[in-house]
Amino acid sequence: MSSTRVVILLGRPGSGKGTQGQLLESRRGYVHLSTGELLRAAIRERSELGVKARKFVDCGQLVPDGVIVSLVAEHLSSLVGEVPGVVCDGFPRTVPQALALTEALNGLGSPAPVPIELRVSNERAAQRIEGREAGSGLITRSDDKPEIVQARMAVYEAETRPVIDYYESVGLLRIVDGSGAPEDVFRRICEFVD
Ligand code: AMP
Repeated sequence: MSSTRVVILLGRPGSGKGTQGQLLESRRGYVHLSTGELLRAAIRERSELGVKARKFVDCGQLVPDGVIVSLVAEHLSSLVGEVPGVVCDGFPRTVPQALALTEALNGLGSPAPVPIELRVSNERAAQRIEGREAGSGLITRSDDKPEIVQARMAVYEAETRPVIDYYESVGLLRIVDGSGAPEDVFRRICEFVD
């Protein structure tokens, strides 16, 4: 397989990145690369990475860029050229991570990524997270407690919104209305992916 498309899902906590990442995996054969999931697995296994990451994840802060960049680079190098696509969910979260991703893709001879912002209102995102916390069919997460969600939202505004601005400034950003049923959002995403 010659080229692997790298799609990046961006958006505030509760915008539906995880759900859409899973749909791209099940419907389009993309590999869903969720840094949050990788970190939660590492924490459960109490691996070296898990021990390093836990104190940040538990309080809704970002794990240091160096740790995340090597984790993602390792996965990408074994995926690019082997699978039709990779959907990054929860990465990049900072501008240095975005620059490191561009560099890694260049090094692998891969085309520029396709960053898609899932745009939802604060209210909608909060409702989704509350639903998740109440365990209404969605995965329950220990960092979905209200006080930690507040920290994650603040980190999103300070560190991750500039990533969206960065992709906009280089002319790559696509914006999708993230409200409504997952199926409808998925159709909108596919206009940029297919
Ligand atoms: P998520 O499942 O994407 O919401 O991530 C859950 C938590 O994992 C975040 O609140 C961070 O503590 C950590 N995390 C996930 N992805 C990253 C990343 N790209 N950079 C730094 N920390 C991350």
